[in-house]
Amino acid sequence: MRSHPRIPGLIGLLFIPLCAWLFAEPPPGATPLSPPKPPASVAPHVPANWKAGTALAVITPPKMLWMAGYAARKKPAEGKVQELFAKALALEDESGNRLVVVTLDLIGVPQELRQDVADHVQQTYGLPPANLVLNASHTHSGPQLRTRPVTGEDLKNPKLTDAFAYTEKLKTDICTVVGQALGNLAPARLTWNKARCGFAMNRRRDYTLPPEHPNANKAPNPDGPVDHEVPALRVEAPDGTPRAVLFGYACHNTALGFYNYCGDYAGFAQQYLEEHRPGFTALFITGCGADQNPYPRRSDVVPGITDLELAMQHGRSLSNAVEVALIANPRPVGGPIRAAYEEIQLDYAKAERSPHAYPVQVIRFGSDLVLITLGSEVVVDYSLRFKKEFAGPAGVWVAGYTNDYNGYIPSLRVLKEGGYEAAAGWAESVEDRIVEAVHRLYRQVSGPREQAWDTTKDAKSTKG
Ligand SMILES: [Zn+2]
Repeated sequence: MRSHPRIPGLIGLLFIPLCAWLFAEPPPGATPLSPPKPPASVAPHVPANWKAGTALAVITPPKMLWMAGYAARKKPAEGKVQELFAKALALEDESGNRLVVVTLDLIGVPQELRQDVADHVQQTYGLPPANLVLNASHTHSGPQLRTRPVTGEDLKNPKLTDAFAYTEKLKTDICTVVGQALGNLAPARLTWNKARCGFAMNRRRDYTLPPEHPNANKAPNPDGPVDHEVPALRVEAPDGTPRAVLFGYACHNTALGFYNYCGDYAGFAQQYLEEHRPGFTALFITGCGADQNPYPRRSDVVPGITDLELAMQHGRSLSNAVEVALIANPRPVGGPIRAAYEEIQLDYAKAERSPHAYPVQVIRFGSDLVLITLGSEVVVDYSLRFKKEFAGPAGVWVAGYTNDYNGYIPSLRVLKEGGYEAAAGWAESVEDRIVEAVHRLYRQVSGPREQAWDTTKDAKSTKG
């Protein structure tokens, strides 16, 4: 036999590090770590025919400002648990159509702010206003915003002057992240799917019970409508490296009511998704969560658990749902991007009140996904209704808290029932106006083969 004198030496060279890895003592109690895996696409069959870019800016106020969301606040912020972010995801299809989604860890998107940002990015980058989405997480642990200049006696009030100065700077920051995200466009693959997460519950009283019933006012109402879907749009590099996820949930960010800046459960969900993925951006879009709160809520409900721990637990639940959505049978997302935007007239019940210009937006990703965005605090009935009415080959994603922040938007049911979410004084035409507009815009962005299934016909044929 021929000898191979070099082989024992080679084996030795390989054997020693292998043994060192196999028999290395993990710290007591720790699970041994497996070697890092190279990135792998979750959907290698899907062509990487998009371009995507992300950018973010820290928008935590450097000063301790008055905080938004609860009228009962008695003093400005006292600290920070988490940074607040403005994040942008820019997408470009094969034909060069672009979409930019900006998510904000803030209470809302004032209409004047949206207008100024939309004007600027149209002039600077040529991005049509219909192709710009500005969504707020509705965290109640962020600063108050003010778009109206401060004048006269109010100039002596730092609460107002600080809020105005912060909001002016915020506009610049948002324009900057939009420009950076567009500047970072690089080849990408898009897929989407959804998972479920259950901590949102309907917070309105059970109107099916008489008011004198002992449980009528006990929130949350387990029989009230909810939308527990967690849609997630995954962006990965052509080699499979995850780059970003845009995800949604329909629930108030009100686990917290303290005096520290924090993104609430959505802030923690984004943090958890990003922390073990270098260079990865997680962006949260609020759904139609106006009548939804995160439960359990507030420390006195769960003995020994603080509000902050509950916010982190809800954040973990949501991030876990997103992790599932990221790997579960990824559905391809193709182009082209088609977007339509309109400001419709919403009337108040009192005729002397001026109508409100209310933004409605529909964005289509080819025949795969449709994103419907609505302004202000929209109750869950809208989300459930549109998902039913537009059920079809394309996924349907409905966001509230987008491009406007002007109080609650009840459905006709909620308006008639009354209560907190019905108190803004809208006319009973509110739901019809919004539904008509969404259907009109949906038709504008859909080709003849991309219409929703005719569910009426399906129902008839099942019967027949
Ligand atoms: Zn709210």
